[in-house]
Amino acid sequence: MSISDNIMSVKNNIRSACIRAGREPEDVKLVAVSKTMGTDKIMEAVNSGIRVFGENKVQELVSKYEALDKGLEWHMIGHLQSNKVKYIIDKVAMIHSVDSIKLLQEIDRRCKAYDKCIDVLIEINIGREATKYGICPEDLGAFLEEAPKYENVRICGLMTVAPKVNVPEDARPYFKEMKRLFEDAKSSNNVNVEMKYLSMGMTGDYEVAIEEGSNIVRIGTGIFGPRDYRF
Ligand SMILES: *Cc1c(COP(=O)(O)O)cnc(C)c1O
Repeated sequence: MSISDNIMSVKNNIRSACIRAGREPEDVKLVAVSKTMGTDKIMEAVNSGIRVFGENKVQELVSKYEALDKGLEWHMIGHLQSNKVKYIIDKVAMIHSVDSIKLLQEIDRRCKAYDKCIDVLIEINIGREATKYGICPEDLGAFLEEAPKYENVRICGLMTVAPKVNVPEDARPYFKEMKRLFEDAKSSNNVNVEMKYLSMGMTGDYEVAIEEGSNIVRIGTGIFGPRDYRF
């Protein structure tokens, strides 16, 4: 299937999941995860109407940003080291992977230099996996209480990469827990925190994620096909 066919089918699946959940399809934002894909593939997606791309490596994001139309929207979705914030801060619309106060502080500091405010999500390690980034659910409350110190950052939601499961249905409990955390955080009323986005759901599990309340899905394989990491 072509990238354009894939996009059509992903959009159809998003629509069906929204209908099942009694939600509006327009409320779910699709981020096309273009990591490892060349600019030719990205242009194919652009020509099929995609404007929002997610990358997980600083270097790769920067080189694609430089090479492509400045009207595209880039999201940093992978682990970000504090010392690399400076390379992407003027290029990204959102950082999904904030997982430490140190990183939050550096993002704030770099934004001040550009006199801008950036949207970030807090990454939650919902499956408490040793191999994954993100803060533990029980640490979220304390994390959000630090938010008022960082005026150039808007914490506008949560992100997670759910544990790998054999059938999508098995990811549902993790998404339910994320939704619960999200609603709790919403009612906590901290300055500089406005919980709007719940970024969860990838190729293998986005329909279940939407049924459980996700409003940003990050789809790579489902749009671009399998990744080749040999290069
Ligand atoms: C690679 C990646 C995705 C997309 O994964 P697919 O299974 O290819 O859809 C989503 N989110 C993050 C953080 C990723 O690194």
